[in-house]
Amino acid sequence: MKTFWEVLLGLKSLFTGLSITIREFFKPTITTHYPRQTETIPARFRGHIQLTQNPDGGASLCIACKSCERACPSACIIVEGVKKTDGPGKTVSEFRLDFGTCSLCGLCIEACPVKPVKAIEFTKRYNLASTTNDYADMDLVQRYKDLQAKKS
Ligand code: SF4
Ligand code: SF4
Repeated sequence: MKTFWEVLLGLKSLFTGLSITIREFFKPTITTHYPRQTETIPARFRGHIQLTQNPDGGASLCIACKSCERACPSACIIVEGVKKTDGPGKTVSEFRLDFGTCSLCGLCIEACPVKPVKAIEFTKRYNLASTTNDYADMDLVQRYKDLQAKKS
């Protein structure tokens, strides 16, 4: 048999819970209905790396120096270059990323000597998910071309 004070304590808990429920019921909804709605991705978010879009359009800013490849502690970048036909230096012909082993440390971007805009950057892609190993061999040159084509 419950005492008067135990019943009173139970009722107090009940009304406290109900008051919170009623208060929250009338507040604006803050749930994001993903994937129909998405939040703004923070500026410092790190998705996989990609070749930075050349602000002047055309070829990538990458000079195929391989500094990023050497700096990567996970050895997950492969860069190849070819000599430019319209001047000195090289341009990137292959840039592959094994995103499965990338730790998003950013050392590759730090090592890139291209100025004032680095030739590689982090993307804002947060929703890469796969039941297979789809991201073990990403072709970033092809991605660069696809993004250029979308812009034009
Ligand atoms: S972020 Fe780090 S681990 Fe990933 S590719 Fe760059 S250097 Fe390698
Ligand atoms: S992304 Fe930068 S560091 Fe890497 S090969 Fe190109 S120019 Fe060199």
